[in-house]
Amino acid sequence: MRVIESLLIDGQWSSGTHLHQADVFNPATGEQIAKLSLASTADLDRALAAAQRGFQVWRKTSAYDRSKILRKAADLVRQRSDEIAALITLEQGKPLAEAKLEAFGAGDHIDWYAEEGRRAYGRVIPPRVRGVRQTVLREPVGPVAAFSPWNFPVSQLVRKIAGALAAGCSIIAKGPEETPSSCIELCRAFQDAGVPEGVLNLVFGVPAEVSDYLIRSDVIRKVSFTGSVPVGRSLGALAGQHLKRCTLELGGHAPFIVCDDVDVNAVAALGAGLKFRNGGQICASPTRFYVQSSVYEQFVEAFCKAGAAIKLGDGHDASTQLGPLANPRRVTAVQEYVDDALALGAHLALGGKGTGGPGFFYPATVLTDVPEGARVMCEEPFGPIASVVRFDTVEDVIEKANSLPFGLAAFAFTRSIQRATLLADELESGMVSINHFGLAAPETPFGGVKDSGYGSEGGSEGLDAYFTTKFVSQIG
Ligand code: NAD
Repeated sequence: MRVIESLLIDGQWSSGTHLHQADVFNPATGEQIAKLSLASTADLDRALAAAQRGFQVWRKTSAYDRSKILRKAADLVRQRSDEIAALITLEQGKPLAEAKLEAFGAGDHIDWYAEEGRRAYGRVIPPRVRGVRQTVLREPVGPVAAFSPWNFPVSQLVRKIAGALAAGCSIIAKGPEETPSSCIELCRAFQDAGVPEGVLNLVFGVPAEVSDYLIRSDVIRKVSFTGSVPVGRSLGALAGQHLKRCTLELGGHAPFIVCDDVDVNAVAALGAGLKFRNGGQICASPTRFYVQSSVYEQFVEAFCKAGAAIKLGDGHDASTQLGPLANPRRVTAVQEYVDDALALGAHLALGGKGTGGPGFFYPATVLTDVPEGARVMCEEPFGPIASVVRFDTVEDVIEKANSLPFGLAAFAFTRSIQRATLLADELESGMVSINHFGLAAPETPFGGVKDSGYGSEGGSEGLDAYFTTKFVSQIG
């Protein structure tokens, strides 16, 4: 069995000490395709020492020179995006077209941070006493420990790497063990572009052991995690205990609100496209479809029609629109959500049963009239299930939408400017997208409120996360 050379430490690729390995599977067949070498604590110690040295080099590299290297990395990622996309599909399962967008789009994220890093201005504050010069400097926070998940192996990781590097930080990134190869190629592009040794380090390992070891280390000054709420809560607590800055991009349960004044069929088609993208394994995926009563039946019919037309298959097949789920855990979880909702009285309008293998396939599934207490209405489904529920007034739907502890993304559709403004103002969500899908561009902040975490990736806020503030007062 092929062993993936997975560790990038101090500019060198290696398979580490080989003490522990993880199995990597193709979710479309369920077959094991490789073994992944995992970092030992000795490997992590080397990575920490490298990140410490790398930080001293990189923080003294001018923003101009950092930007040039990052732009070169962006070009390399774009040039290699077909190969990177094939690796995403092989290990994660999403259709190749979606993987290509992810891989090619990574170049955009790097370019944006490269530009923004050159504009990380401080400021001058007028003094009370003549002759005093008061300046505010923005300095890189220090070596970063970053943890990224398997649902977007490249675009989740690239935001952390590009943000940290643009600010002048070094980074130890722990990639997702289930989908390592595209992460490795992403890091190779940074390395080939000229990022100095030790500045970017990539490891894989036993997640809880790696995060515990890195966050406790004195070397690490900032933690960034994307993943589930329970893990985010525990990493945030550990980071707090050690007074490390932290960005947490956690789960969501996005409401998708359809008012009665819209083109219902068009909104249903858009909603189905958004829902079933990446098999619904997206933190900002619409999950609770609230539809105003007078257009409810029409919406359900159009939504199911669009969902039924979605072709399930191996992501490498050009006609596939819905690939396998990334791992068998998701298939089990999705089936449990469906069975629970049906037992509580929901109606199954589409799908509802996994194909049973080979591979981890689950079809586009629509549940209607789902009771509020059903697990799928309360827990993040992270799968291809749309739950459709009716509502009567906008005030009523705002209350329903805000009733969960999540607050990542929300979508709303209405032609009324008053309703749109009310929804934008009242939805408890880090991101609100009205009448279209308008989230996740490199230049816009991406992040949640409540249990969905804190801090943003993307936008100028994404870069701010990697800076500290230094105030200098000088006379003479
Ligand atoms: P999980 O909670 O075990 O893992 C989620 C991610 O966190 C994985 O990438 C995993 O490697 C990592 N992780 C787990 N424990 C960790 C630790 N102690 N330290 C550092 N990293 C750790 O669950 P899972 O089965 O892999 O995924 C299922 C759930 O995770 C989903 O239901 C969803 O809520 C959430 N998730 C969210 C995102 C997101 O984009 N916010 C991405 C992937 C998964």
